[in-house]
Amino acid sequence: MKFQFLGTAAGEQYPGMWCRCDNCTRARKIGGRNIRKNSCAFISPNILLDMPPEAFMQAERFGVDLTGLEYLLVTHSHDDHFNLFPFGWRYLDSRISLPPPANAIGARFTPLKTLHVAGNHLVCRLLDDLLIKKAKFSYEECAMEVHLVEPFKKCVLGGMEILPLRANHLENNAEKDALNYVVFLNGRTILYALDTGWFLPETYEAIKQFRYDLVVLEGTFGYGAESETHFNCRKLEKAVQLFKDDGLMKENSNFCVSHVCPHFFPIHDDIAPALAQKGIVLACDGMSLEI
Ligand SMILES: [Zn+2]
Ligand SMILES: [Zn+2]
Ligand SMILES: [Zn+2]
Repeated sequence: MKFQFLGTAAGEQYPGMWCRCDNCTRARKIGGRNIRKNSCAFISPNILLDMPPEAFMQAERFGVDLTGLEYLLVTHSHDDHFNLFPFGWRYLDSRISLPPPANAIGARFTPLKTLHVAGNHLVCRLLDDLLIKKAKFSYEECAMEVHLVEPFKKCVLGGMEILPLRANHLENNAEKDALNYVVFLNGRTILYALDTGWFLPETYEAIKQFRYDLVVLEGTFGYGAESETHFNCRKLEKAVQLFKDDGLMKENSNFCVSHVCPHFFPIHDDIAPALAQKGIVLACDGMSLEI
């Protein structure tokens, strides 16, 4: 099973859009793996974790076809994780016969498999507001089904089971709860935990019920700030040790970091080898893992 990072940056991206600090300047100059777009990951052949604004551009860049997407797990509604704009372009007017006549107007003229979107209350409401209330489409015309998911309530989506976890990221508010996900698929177990600060006690209690083939944690602030709502490298090192002590990593598993901001997280080329020595794989855009 192939897991591919389509983006690995925090909100402002890497280099930061409007920043000229040393890291941002070096990343611009050296390019390659040092350039990151907003965090997003693809599990082949049909699962996407978050849909930031560059998801389609990154997919094309790395040879991933998102037209076959069937499942989208949304962590939360922050703009660097959930871009509403692409969903409206799924609409297909049921009165148009296919192939379309030359005077047809629309954004899609081929059938699509249903896209199942899992998200919190706010994600579901934003989709409803855009597609149903504002555009007057139906989910059927957009080939979509929207699934409200809640922390600690396991659910089945196709051949996959997901356990949403409560992330430590936003004010405790049932509508906006940021989610992290444990994904169970083809006998593999994946933890995708961004955005979050240090694990809430009830969340770690749920995490430690399983053993993982792949863990993806966020590393937002690198060697900078301690934050209640994001990780940094000190927390990452603590987490690696904790997962090891609690025996949560399977043999040949990977402990990866994504969602990194520039300014205080050194450029990939400088820091990836040092992190690897500590058992942390620094992901880069396009990196894929066979799990
Ligand atoms: Zn984020
Ligand atoms: Zn966020
Ligand atoms: Zn910077």
